[in-house]
Amino acid sequence: MSTQEPVIRYSHYLLRTRREDPTDAEIPSHKLLVKAGFIRQVAAGVFDFTPIAFRVMTRIMEIIRQEMNRIGGQELLMPVLNPASLWIETGRYNAVGAELIRFADRRGTDMCLAMTNEETVTDLARGYVSSWRDLPFMLYHIQTKIRDEARPRGGVMRVREFLMKDAYSFHRDFTDLGAYYVNVYNAYRRIFKRIGLSPVPVEADTGAMGGSASHEFLQPSQSGEDTFARCNRCGMSSNIEKAEVVSTAQAEGSRQAAAEEVHTPNMTTIDDLMSFFGVGPDRFLKAVAYDADGTIVVAFINGAYEINETKLKNALGAMELTVADSRKLTDAGIVPGFISPRIAKLSGVTVLLDRTILSRQAYVMGGDRIDYHVKSAVPGRDFTLSDTVDIASVREGDPCPRCADGTIVLLRGIELGHTFQLGTKYSESMGLTYLSEEGKAAPVVMGCYGIGVERAMASIIEAHHDETGIVWPITTAPFTVMVLPLGADAEVVAAADTTARALSQTYSVLLDDRQESAGVKFADSELLGIPIRAVVSKKLIAKGEVELKVRRTGEVVVVPQKEAPETVRSLLFGLAEKEGVMIDDSWPA
Ligand code: ATP
Ligand code: MG
Repeated sequence: MSTQEPVIRYSHYLLRTRREDPTDAEIPSHKLLVKAGFIRQVAAGVFDFTPIAFRVMTRIMEIIRQEMNRIGGQELLMPVLNPASLWIETGRYNAVGAELIRFADRRGTDMCLAMTNEETVTDLARGYVSSWRDLPFMLYHIQTKIRDEARPRGGVMRVREFLMKDAYSFHRDFTDLGAYYVNVYNAYRRIFKRIGLSPVPVEADTGAMGGSASHEFLQPSQSGEDTFARCNRCGMSSNIEKAEVVSTAQAEGSRQAAAEEVHTPNMTTIDDLMSFFGVGPDRFLKAVAYDADGTIVVAFINGAYEINETKLKNALGAMELTVADSRKLTDAGIVPGFISPRIAKLSGVTVLLDRTILSRQAYVMGGDRIDYHVKSAVPGRDFTLSDTVDIASVREGDPCPRCADGTIVLLRGIELGHTFQLGTKYSESMGLTYLSEEGKAAPVVMGCYGIGVERAMASIIEAHHDETGIVWPITTAPFTVMVLPLGADAEVVAAADTTARALSQTYSVLLDDRQESAGVKFADSELLGIPIRAVVSKKLIAKGEVELKVRRTGEVVVVPQKEAPETVRSLLFGLAEKEGVMIDDSWPA
């Protein structure tokens, strides 16, 4: 990057590193962002970003911008402050939970703070689109999003105010959307590669957003909140909220004993029951009772599996799902702790049977009265076997739903971005239509695509750090070179100045002109993670030299002062190759 930017002087830069680890930080990026002085918490999930942090964010945003422009995106800016009326049109005003901040303005008009901009962008587009000739196009902005998250966490991984690049595309039909979706998918891969990340595109649940195809870009990381299933054979990757469970039926004796009621007093745990009956968890019919939008729903599953609440919510088409209150169950005639599918006959109760039930021929199930179970309960014989649903969480080692002989591995990841084929959910509810070539009015088919900027920054640190600090990839580093004068001699100060200025002709430079010891300066340069460190000392000056050190590799070279810019250039080329962040013509440094 030809900067033409002045050398930044640390002594007057709003940057204070810390020696101690913050006590409340659980993940490396949180710890390092605080220690290195990049972020400061203002309120739960709300942060200041100091100038050095904002430089990183700016570089991330610039790469996003280049790639969005490359696929024809038109950058614009839409508001955070939205009238509730737009959100009422799409139904999201009521459908979205407390994450959406709602309030009345001074005139008493209901307002909300945008958590994404489908409503405003659809409203905007309906003023422009009239014919098939107007399509397709793509709009995007990088704008503040407000989400009153229940659990902000991980420093800036999950916050309540953040910058998101959100893009929206408009098409005449699904074929055109599908074709464009591939462009966005490829742009996303380029963006993440360029910023030093390599997320797995994972098939995702489309949830409240509606629509069909959707991918989450999950960066494999222990610090991630998402779990995804990956096939060790065909590479199928799917969020656990979506991954299908194929449970294979086990061969058992064809004749089952008759069902038998058994007294099971003082058995409070599944372990107690397993040892009492002498069978494993897969021989139990597990019941979990929920309150789904006010209705009692009891889900039954093979005891070796867990219910996935997102899948359950989707199967029910429910908005709110909570574990049912036992009083409410008792009132409905259900005996908590001893529930069997026979309760399906009770009124006001919905029973769902998971597919995994089909993997066994007989189960131990609840006896529908206190301290009783039923053994040898056969589905279809001892309780009604209605249609089964897929509401189980896939397990490590389960068979792959896609290919014949692969097995599932579970991985954790950070969701860096999300792409959705929205379809017509927003265009239909808001009346965004166009006239086709045949003169027929049809709803515009839409896609939407998000990337969080702060979360991207934190994820880069998760992937690029060591025990002494951050190791920025060259494409997102706040500065390319950090110049360290050692000692306060006038000649050292002057030489550091000359070196910094020469380097700043081509690279962004932070000059550590503080009155600090060499030890402090070295430690801070490691912590801040700037790719190249240039040391200027009395000893080096005597020979007219500077020492250059590569943060990532530890490689050190001593070169004549005049050759410093040229050597930095070749060191950066070496780094670019190692980091894999360069794509064709995009020289980043
Ligand atoms: P999550 O499941 O993590 O809550 P989401 O599905 O709500 O994410 P989207 O609405 O698809 O996320 O938002 C697009 C992108 O915005 C996400 O991929 C992520 O990078 C970022 N993002 C979403 N919520 C937050 C948040 N609370 N803090 C920081 N970044 C966020
Ligand atoms: Mg969310």
